Amino acid sequence: MAARAFSTVQLVNGSTGDPVLYLDYPGSDNALLFDGGENGGLTAAQLGDLEAVFVTHHHVDHFIGLDRIVRANMDRDKVLHLFGPVNTIRKVYDRITAYEYPYFPFQKIVVRVTELLPGKRRTAVLECTRRFPEPVIEEADWAGPVCYENADLRVEAAHADHTVPCLAFALAEKSGYHPDPKKLSAGLLKSGRWVPEALRLLRDGADPQTRLDIDGGSFTLAALAENYFTESAGARVAYVTDTFWSDAARPGLVKLAKGAWRLYCDSFYAAAEAKRAAQYKHLIAPQAGELARLAKVEQLVLIHFATRYAGKYQQLIDEAAAVFPRVTAEVS
Ligand SMILES: [Zn+2]
Ligand SMILES: [Zn+2]
Repeated sequence: MAARAFSTVQLVNGSTGDPVLYLDYPGSDNALLFDGGENGGLTAAQLGDLEAVFVTHHHVDHFIGLDRIVRANMDRDKVLHLFGPVNTIRKVYDRITAYEYPYFPFQKIVVRVTELLPGKRRTAVLECTRRFPEPVIEEADWAGPVCYENADLRVEAAHADHTVPCLAFALAEKSGYHPDPKKLSAGLLKSGRWVPEALRLLRDGADPQTRLDIDGGSFTLAALAENYFTESAGARVAYVTDTFWSDAARPGLVKLAKGAWRLYCDSFYAAAEAKRAAQYKHLIAPQAGELARLAKVEQLVLIHFATRYAGKYQQLIDEAAAVFPRVTAEVS
C-alpha cells in the first residue's frame, strides 16, 4: 500500500526563504498551503487550486503572500478555507478590503476564515458577491486538535510558543482509496469530476460493477479502481515553525508530529544562539532534531534558516543530525 496520496509536496522557498509548504492532490480545488509567506514560486494556477490555507501567525514572513492567494481565487466559484491564530479574521478582512474591486459577477470567491484560540474557534465568511460586508463572527468551543476535515484528510493544529500567537499544523490523510497520481497521468481518462464521484462510491463500498459514464464511455467502478486509484495507509505531514522549545509547547508539538512521514521544522538558529532563540522564540537546530526524535518521525526537513547562516547552513543540518540522523534541508 502506498503510504501517501498527494501528488505534489513543494517547499516553495526551500529551507532558507519564508517557510511555505504546498501540497496538491489529483483533481482541482484540493491543494493545501501551510503558511502565507512569499509564494512567488507558485503559479496563479497552483494557488487557484487551493482548498485550504493554514497560517501559523501574522509575522510578515508568514503572511505577506495572502494577497496573491486571494487574487488567484477571486474568480473561482468555491469556498477557500483559511485558518490562523487569534485576530486572523480581522487581519484577512482588512487585507482584502484594502483593495478596490470592480465586483464583476464572475468574482465569486468566498473565504471562510477560522481563528483558533485555546479552547475555542471563531469563524466568519467573507463573500465577494456581497461586496465583503463587515464579518459576522461565530464562536464555538473547540477542544482540538482537528481544525479541518474533508473526505480524504484531517488537519490538526497545536499552539506553538512564539512572540505572538502562533499555531503548528499536521496533515493526516485518511486510510483507504485515493486517486493515484501516476496512474491518472498515464491513463486514458483525463482527471475530472468523475474522480471524486468514483472515489465516493469506492469508499462507500458500492457494487464494483456500478457503471459510470465518463467522456462518452462507460466504465465499471472495478476498472476505475484498478486503473486510477490506489489503497493508501495515509501519510502524516507535520509543519512546525516559529516556536520556542518550552515546557508549554513541547507536549502539543510532539503529539502533533507523532509518527509523521515527514516533519518540516523550524531550525532558525544554531545551538550557540540558544539565548537568542529563547528571546525571539525560535528553535535551535538540535531542538528540531529532538522534536523529530521524540515524535519518532520518518524524516525531518529543516526550514526557516536565519540569513546569518548563509554559506554555512551545513552547520545547522549537522547539529540536528547529531540528535536525529534522518534529516535534510533544501538549500540552493
Ligand atoms: Zn515569527
Ligand atoms: Zn518566521
